[in-house]
Amino acid sequence: MSNDKTHSLKTSILLAALNEEHLNKVQKCCSSLNVDVSASDSGHEALKMAIESSFDLVIIAADMPGMDGYEVASLLRRRKKTQSIPIIFLLSENDKKQKMFKGYEYGPVDYMFYPVDESILASKIKIFIEMQKHKKVNYLETVGELRVVKAELKARNKALSNLANQDALTHLYNRRQFEVELARILRECKRYNKQFALLFCDIDNFKIVNDTLGHDAGDQLLKQISQVFLNNVRQTDIVARLGGDEFGIILNYIDNYREAGNVAKHLLNALSDPLVVSGINQSPTFSIGVACFPFAGQDVTTIMRSADIAMYRAKSMGKNQSQFYNKSLQKEYGSRLEIESNLKFAIEKNEFYLNFQPIYNLKKLEIFGFEALLRWRSENLGDMNPDQFIAIAEESGDIHAIGQWVLSESFKVLKDWQSKDFKGVKLAVNISGKQIQFGDFYNKLMMQASEHGISLKDLVLEVSESVLMKNKPKLVELLQKITGHGVKFLIDDFGTGYSSLVDLRNLPVCALKIDNAFVGSLGESSDGGALVKAIIAMARNLGIQTIAEGVETKEQCLFLKNEGCRFGQGYHLGKPMSRVEACRLLASGKYKGCA
Ligand code: C2E
Ligand code: MG
Ligand code: MG
Repeated sequence: MSNDKTHSLKTSILLAALNEEHLNKVQKCCSSLNVDVSASDSGHEALKMAIESSFDLVIIAADMPGMDGYEVASLLRRRKKTQSIPIIFLLSENDKKQKMFKGYEYGPVDYMFYPVDESILASKIKIFIEMQKHKKVNYLETVGELRVVKAELKARNKALSNLANQDALTHLYNRRQFEVELARILRECKRYNKQFALLFCDIDNFKIVNDTLGHDAGDQLLKQISQVFLNNVRQTDIVARLGGDEFGIILNYIDNYREAGNVAKHLLNALSDPLVVSGINQSPTFSIGVACFPFAGQDVTTIMRSADIAMYRAKSMGKNQSQFYNKSLQKEYGSRLEIESNLKFAIEKNEFYLNFQPIYNLKKLEIFGFEALLRWRSENLGDMNPDQFIAIAEESGDIHAIGQWVLSESFKVLKDWQSKDFKGVKLAVNISGKQIQFGDFYNKLMMQASEHGISLKDLVLEVSESVLMKNKPKLVELLQKITGHGVKFLIDDFGTGYSSLVDLRNLPVCALKIDNAFVGSLGESSDGGALVKAIIAMARNLGIQTIAEGVETKEQCLFLKNEGCRFGQGYHLGKPMSRVEACRLLASGKYKGCA
């Protein structure tokens, strides 16, 4: 017997009676009529069933113990769901007069008398079935109609809410919804300690388009511009028309403020492509104000105002540009951009060269090798230190070409030394993490080595500690492949990352370069000495050599030597020098052959 009868077309009857014989008779009668019967032998249970399920007819004995049939009927009539279910009371002939009237108080009811006559009961049930079927069909029709009305209502509600949230012309969010989204993103970024940026983009001289081509053309242009915005930001970013010719963009979750600057630059570039309006090419320019959270404010109003101020600054500085709200960010971003754009042509313009700083065996005070240090003499920016441009090159991707250039130049020098009397002198080359993580570093290295015809056993690659710790499994495999050719690896700037002893044991590194900062602190405090001692002892236990960098004084040199640090490098021992000077130094007798 099914319990979920709400929308079934099959009639269901709830039967509550005590007498087995009556029960059987009613059930037999119902099964011949193909109706579902749920039976119960207590008034209380019958009431519960009627409330929990849906029945088309209740047949109930008037004389049920505990809660009798009339009580059940009375309670059914009090509930909306059950108030109109027809009820047939089962009565004994003796009760006929007395109780029949009582039953009528409960609405649509009928009576059957013991002993139950099956044919009469069957015809009564049939009548009720017919009545119920009719009701159900109507019910289903009503449900169908209701569904249509509901769908219409939903569509209208959506249209209404769109009208409230959207800009009618571009279908982008309007200012109201933009502020709602901004508040949400601000909350999320505060909670998860993330950054986001707000861009206010205003079309320069839009009035001229409206005045010369008319408002329809202006509208068309706005629509096309909104599409350019949508096509040039991530799907998760939010684009809105804030009114007139002003658009707002929220760059959700950015890594740093420079990302926002790059998007603004990218947008200005994308918007510089002409748009065709009424058959005429239009190339409007834009002024973009960039406000970055957390730098430009902590609440919606302040951040919006910051973006606005930045946008007006972009206008006042000549339009067709973007400006950060924070002047310090603008300055930094500007100089980064300048460096980035000059870096692109530095190789072509032959602006790079290498310096070589000697690395000494501290015990013998003999040259062990040199570290190749990159120098950039930029035509536009002057002399630049690697600390000023390597990170930018890593971000822009130029590091791959630059790294290849450094390797190629280093190989030329190594070839030169290997063919002279300086066989075995080591050349240490700095490798950026980006170079080994991406790109085909192994193949490029092997190709260059064979092109220059050098022996790789004199090559040392310096990789910074943080890089090694970040991508261990893949990197270990690559390093092992490379060391298989005789190349040595050393960990640069050791002590600034978070290597553990276990990490070091699993890496194919031959030496640790103790960072400048630790060596510099020697003699300044006992802690500095203790740290350097600990690094040297730890490396010794692992069978790894140590090289101290930034050795600036005789005292530091002595301390390191006494503690068993084998190699040293620093201004006290020799400053970075040109290739010619390095050759001269090697020839002066400071190099005594293979160390
Ligand atoms: P690094 O590899 O740790 O290089 C050592 C830095 O310490 C060099 O700075 C060097 O000139 C400086 N130095 C040497 N002796 C002393 C000293 O006694 N005292 C002090 N205070 N400094 C000393 P530089 O040449 O400015 O290089 C800075 C960093 O730039 C390097 O640190 C390295 O990480 C990176 N770099 C340099 N050349 C390259 C390169 O060709 N490729 C890559 N990817 N990075 C490079
Ligand atoms: Mg180095
Ligand atoms: Mg270093």
